[in-house]
Amino acid sequence: MSTIHPSGSSGAPRPMGARPGGPHSGPRPGGRPGAPSAGGPGGFRRGGRPPIRRKVCRFCAEKIREIDYKAVPLLRPFLTARGKLLSGRITGNCAKCQRNLTQAIKRAQTLSLLPYTGD
Ligand SMILES: [Zn+2]
Repeated sequence: MSTIHPSGSSGAPRPMGARPGGPHSGPRPGGRPGAPSAGGPGGFRRGGRPPIRRKVCRFCAEKIREIDYKAVPLLRPFLTARGKLLSGRITGNCAKCQRNLTQAIKRAQTLSLLPYTGD
């Protein structure tokens, strides 16, 4: 004798392991008593990339005494995307070459070989 079970019944009560409502789901007793956000008296804030350090500046190394303002590919890395001039500290140029570079870039900008500053 075999009893035919109706196989269409959904929601059969399956006695799975009943989970007892764990007490760990509540608020933690004594969590962090006001986590001190990193705000120590450090002074200089970190996060930025350190500027490229060159022993000798690029132009001195290549013995470029006069920077050609027509050499746009040469000048381009010294401008930001917005056309702002990067300072010698960032580029690693020596003061002398940085001056020449600035001069060259300004000339190139006048001739609209390079973009002007955004603002
Ligand atoms: Zn130099």
